Amino acid sequence: MHQSTSIPVYQHTGLGGLAMDFTLSEEQEMFRAMFRDFSAKEVAPKAEEIDHEERPPLDVLRKAANQGFLGATLPEDYFGAELDYLSYALLIQTLAGDCMSTAVTLATHVSLVAMSILEHGTDAQKEEWLPQMAAGEVIGAFALTEPDAGSDAASLQTRAFPSSPPEGGGQEGEVILDGVKTWVANGEIAGLFLVFAQGPDGIEPFLVPKDAPGLTLGYREPTLGLRSVTFNTLYLEGCRVPQANRLGEPGEGWTVAQRARDRMAIALAAAGLGVSEAAVNVAAQYATERVQFGVPIAQKQAIQNYVAEAFAQVEALRYLVYHAAWLADQDGGFSLDASVVKAFSARVARSVTNRMVQVMGGYGYMEDYPMARKYRDARALGIIGGPTELHYVWVAQRIFADLDLEIVP
Ligand SMILES: Cc1cc2nc3c(=O)[nH]c(=O)nc-3n(C[C@H](O)[C@H](O)[C@H](O)COP(=O)(O)OP(=O)(O)OC[C@H]3O[C@@H](n4cnc5c(N)ncnc54)[C@H](O)[C@@H]3O)c2cc1C
Repeated sequence: MHQSTSIPVYQHTGLGGLAMDFTLSEEQEMFRAMFRDFSAKEVAPKAEEIDHEERPPLDVLRKAANQGFLGATLPEDYFGAELDYLSYALLIQTLAGDCMSTAVTLATHVSLVAMSILEHGTDAQKEEWLPQMAAGEVIGAFALTEPDAGSDAASLQTRAFPSSPPEGGGQEGEVILDGVKTWVANGEIAGLFLVFAQGPDGIEPFLVPKDAPGLTLGYREPTLGLRSVTFNTLYLEGCRVPQANRLGEPGEGWTVAQRARDRMAIALAAAGLGVSEAAVNVAAQYATERVQFGVPIAQKQAIQNYVAEAFAQVEALRYLVYHAAWLADQDGGFSLDASVVKAFSARVARSVTNRMVQVMGGYGYMEDYPMARKYRDARALGIIGGPTELHYVWVAQRIFADLDLEIVP
């Protein structure tokens, strides 16, 4: 007889194992109100324009820095706002509701770069970079992907090797970086690149200032959505940085990349929540105003079903996002939850924005109305931060590991 098999993965992870009170604290409610106020005043009015002009949100970033948002999760010692990750997720969600480009720009800066330095940096690295990043004087960019290393990022070809030992002593040695990075978000506005390269100890991350000799910013890729984010090629040709710019311990480089990926997955999931929620709100409002056959189209059951189903998807996503963000602040791993919520968010955001375009008919398709932008932006979520297929591979690895089966990507 077939024996039922329990899957322990559900017993010890955040998916079912750890309880959470989903009520936001008074402080989180206060932050959310502040984020909404900021986004309504500073982000929403510019979103359409910067998208059409494909211009990075520099004004918004300056104002966000004044509010402490560019150092959102950094400790006060580094002039950060010291937000918990759930409050930060609320910030990303709120910004994405008005402008996903702004949310992705900020998440790249905070989740991928600033938090990597905070988690793995030396005191000197933190002191050098984090206050400048919190103040918005330096924007961060993350350079992992290469022309031949996308999903298989660990196969990257950029090389890091020590320069000849300094003569005469006294001066620290340098590292030379050679390679090409692609689709580097924030490329044109970044003051600091976190560059991953193959070194003597395997994959190693380096903090590379934009004016490092041998670093050249290349082609900006035109994109389907997220048009206010600049995605550039980065050339490293004999690029020299001090040895002291290596981030983390030798042999720890891949962990730095994975931790960054997990944090970013939750931030991107929050962005998916924001854009989906806003799409439902815009389309539902429109359905009450658009009259066809003598009544608002909201009276038609097909439209009600589209809106109601989208609402259900958004609510399911909301609690997954909040839970994963909360888990990121607890002791222990959150990799599995990060992949689950990222993959789910990508699917919900794509499906919801697609449906909401349909609710708005021709107006949904026209670029002078906000839904088209939301639909284009949401599509990125299945690729950026690791494609959905890879996140599912990582989830499957965990499930089947408990059943003694090894899964390789
Ligand atoms: C908008 C945007 C912003 C980005 N920003 C950055 C950035 O700031 N920094 C950075 O380093 N990178 C960035 N990237 C790169 C991004 O991380 C990669 O696009 C992503 O990792 C996938 O790599 P790829 O595009 O080369 O696809 P490929 O790896 O070529 O994959 C193509 C398809 O094959 C599937 N596939 C591949 N391997 C497997 C497998 N083992 N099992 C099942 N399916 C598989 C993929 O899921 C995908 O559907 C960005 C990408 C986009 C689109």
